Amino acid sequence: APLDVPVTEDKFLFLSETGAKAVPNWALPDNFKNHGNYVISLANVTRWLGQQAEALGVEIFPGFPAAEVLYNDDGSVKGVATGNMGIGKDGEPTENFQLGMELHAKYTLFCEGARGHLGRQLNEKLKLGKDADPQVYGIGIKELWEIDPAKHQPGLVIHTAGWPLESDTYGGSFLYHIDNNQVMVGFVVGLAYTNPYLSPFEEFQRYKTHPAIRKYLEGGKRVSYGARAMTAGGLMSLPKLVFPGGALVGDDAGFLNAARIKGSHAAIKTGMLAAEAAFDAVQAGRTSDELTAYPEAFKQSWL
Ligand SMILES: Cc1cc2nc3c(=O)[nH]c(=O)nc-3n(C[C@H](O)[C@H](O)[C@H](O)COP(=O)(O)OP(=O)(O)OC[C@H]3O[C@@H](n4cnc5c(N)ncnc54)[C@H](O)[C@@H]3O)c2cc1C
Repeated sequence: APLDVPVTEDKFLFLSETGAKAVPNWALPDNFKNHGNYVISLANVTRWLGQQAEALGVEIFPGFPAAEVLYNDDGSVKGVATGNMGIGKDGEPTENFQLGMELHAKYTLFCEGARGHLGRQLNEKLKLGKDADPQVYGIGIKELWEIDPAKHQPGLVIHTAGWPLESDTYGGSFLYHIDNNQVMVGFVVGLAYTNPYLSPFEEFQRYKTHPAIRKYLEGGKRVSYGARAMTAGGLMSLPKLVFPGGALVGDDAGFLNAARIKGSHAAIKTGMLAAEAAFDAVQAGRTSDELTAYPEAFKQSWL
């Protein structure tokens, strides 16, 4: 299967309960113009990237969460420990018990996604966010649908704002036509909403009943679904990126650009910048210090 489908048409709709007003393309803010971009399945791209990395000799250990940050005596990060396996429901070791493994490194890059388990601990312990605004979060719910081929238009990208959200709640939707008669449809709600009765999941279900959206999905079949937190604070909420022995990368640091709904590019780019800084440091015989070249390279980069 191809990894990507070029964007052929951008639409931005303001929804009311029954109506949809399209913003003319010339009036569309640049952040919603996706010409020259591609619709991709991130799962396929990361699978492909993993194969490239393994071919270069990189070892990948899927299925083992990093459960704990390890520190050297001088306070620098020593690496991570994976979780213990084979713990029973009662919290006691079963006959399958296996102690977690310690992975030591000269530099450890943390890239756990939004509100990462270890990233958050590092943030608190090392006060990485003390000079930044607090992070704010949204939730993104996404479904993959197989739709009627007659309604499918590979490369069509639709974003919406407005209904079903009230004007005091930020959020919106995306609907991307990828290949194989599939569309990826999703809804993002900012988690600072004040209405205690609002349920992001129910709002997503309502959104799909709108005539402008329903027309694509009717007769189709939902193939898979998921949800994930997103950081939305942007540059103002970026913590200090480096600390002795490690760095935060991608959404773990909060690099997602919420206005553009672009986080994969930022995650890839910051991963590259941090890796280059670590490579140079290791080549120079350094270990467990601060990779200051990474935040400097970020400031110089397109990102
Ligand atoms: C609904 C939705 C739609 C989006 N649409 C777009 C879009 O159209 N374009 C775009 O550019 N971006 C989009 N984004 C944002 C984009 O998905 C993220 O910004 C991007 O995936 C961040 O990459 P990352 O590698 O930093 O984190 P992630 O992609 O979250 O990857 C982190 C990985 O680490 C694993 N992990 C976490 N903790 C541990 C641990 N302790 N040990 C081991 N593994 C761990 C997680 O399981 C996960 O696989 C969207 C996000 C959402 C939620």
